[in-house]
Formats: sequence, structure tokens, C-alpha cells
Amino acid sequence: MGFFDRVKSTFLHWIYPRRCAFCSAVISPKETICPDCVKKLAWVQAPICKTCGRGLPYCKCRKRYQFCRCVAPFYYEGRAKSAVLRLKFYGRTEAAAVLGAQMYDAVVREYGGNPADVVCCVPAGKSTLKKRGYNHAELLGQQVAALLEKPFAADALSKVLDCPPQHSMGARDRWSNVLGAYGVENAQAVTGKAVLLVDDIMTTGATLNECAKVLKEAGAREVFFVVCTVTRARTLVKAIKMSYNAKSPVGLVTKGIYSSQVGTAKPAGVKPMAQIGKGNHTEPLA
Ligand SMILES: [Zn+2]
Ligand SMILES: [Zn+2]
Repeated sequence: MGFFDRVKSTFLHWIYPRRCAFCSAVISPKETICPDCVKKLAWVQAPICKTCGRGLPYCKCRKRYQFCRCVAPFYYEGRAKSAVLRLKFYGRTEAAAVLGAQMYDAVVREYGGNPADVVCCVPAGKSTLKKRGYNHAELLGQQVAALLEKPFAADALSKVLDCPPQHSMGARDRWSNVLGAYGVENAQAVTGKAVLLVDDIMTTGATLNECAKVLKEAGAREVFFVVCTVTRARTLVKAIKMSYNAKSPVGLVTKGIYSSQVGTAKPAGVKPMAQIGKGNHTEPLA
């Protein structure tokens, strides 16, 4: 970077300081996440389940899924959960850049490179799109595809049944709620290909399983997932919180792990996101 570029960058940072996507603290232009969030975010750590992507102690795989594997950078807790909720319900679409970069890191780290021929996203229903004005999974998918340098087929899947949102259902009802809810809109984009499907969260895996099923029926060779967050059992979360308090403010996360995870992020490749729409959901932030 030349002298004038450095002056311009410093001036812009002074007027529009870069902010942490998780806590809004001002960060330096070189950082993507503030040091406090790096310590406190609930990172998914090895060893992880080769199916659901949770750390092995928190694996909840109870059945055979239609997809090969899912990976995620975070558990759906604390600051990561808040960032996802802000992106999903409050129109904070700029968070997709940082979250997408962490999802890209998880893909490269856990799949050992680039597993997909094409990147797709879990589609939103018509009523959700009308209410929010955007599909948050599509914003994440755009980021992941751009960083992987793979084509992004936003129209590959569609939601054909406008069923109630999964977060409003109990764990058991989620499987029946999404049955027949998704269809393949653009079969040409997925036939014979390894598909990386992107979403914000995996809870029971019902939505991802249903999407994988229709993609395979349409001729997809393999279906992999990357989500921003995965849930873990509440009792285990409680045990971890106790462990956090007993050991250190940082808890079970080791310094080496955050530095390696953050160090592999590629903020330079992250494309800036426009503020696309305003969410009007009233779900409280965690
Ligand atoms: Zn922060
Ligand atoms: Zn598992």
C-alpha cells in the first residue's frame, strides 16, 4: 500500500471506524474481530463429529442424515448467537461479511480444502422474504462462495410450502414441519455436482436434511453443509459455563485455537455488504 493509500485508509478509519461484528467495539483496520470477542466467542473446537460438526462431547447425531457432513465455526451461544439474530431479524446485513469469512475458514479447515462444485443456500419462504426483504442465508452463501471462488446458485432451491418458521417449533415437530417444504428450482445448477449448502444455524438438522434430500433427488452427487452456528445440549452448556467460571474467564478455549482460527480469516477477500433491508422481528437478542 502506497503512502497516499495509507493516509486515505487512516482518514477513512477516523471518520468511519471499523467495528467488531459481534460487539460493535471499534477495531483496527487489520482486525476482523475484537480481542475480547476472540476470547469469548463459543468456537467449535476439535475433535469434532464428522457428521454434525459439533465438538464430539456435544454431538447429538441420532439418525442418518441425507447430507455427508456439516461444519460450523461457532456454537449458537452468546455473541455468535446475537450476531446471527441481528443478521436474521434486525437487518444488520453487514455482519454477513465477518460471519461468512469464519464459515469459509471452517470449510477450508474441516473439509481440508474446497469440497464443492457449487454453493447454494437454504431458501426463505415468500412471507419471510416479504417481511424482511432479504434472505440472510443467501447473504452468507454469497460470502462463502466468493471466498471459495465457486459459483453461487441462489436459485437452486426454493421453499414451496410456507410452513411456520423452525424456531417457532419444538424439536419433535421440526421434522414433520419441513417435510415437502423445499423443492429444486434450478436442477441444472446441481445435477452431478458436489453441493455446499449454506445456512445460519443447525439445531435438529431437519431443515438441512430435507434440503439435502431434494438436492439428491435432483441428481446432486454429494451435499455438504456449512452453517454459522450449531446448537449443543443445554445440560452440556451449563457444564461448560461452570467450567468457564472454575478455570478462567476464557474457559475451555485455548489461546492457540483462537489465534489459528482468526489468523486464517481472509478479511481482504470479504466483499462489503450493503444494508439491504430492515428486519422487523421482535425476538429479543441473547
Ligand atoms: Zn467484539
Ligand atoms: Zn454428530
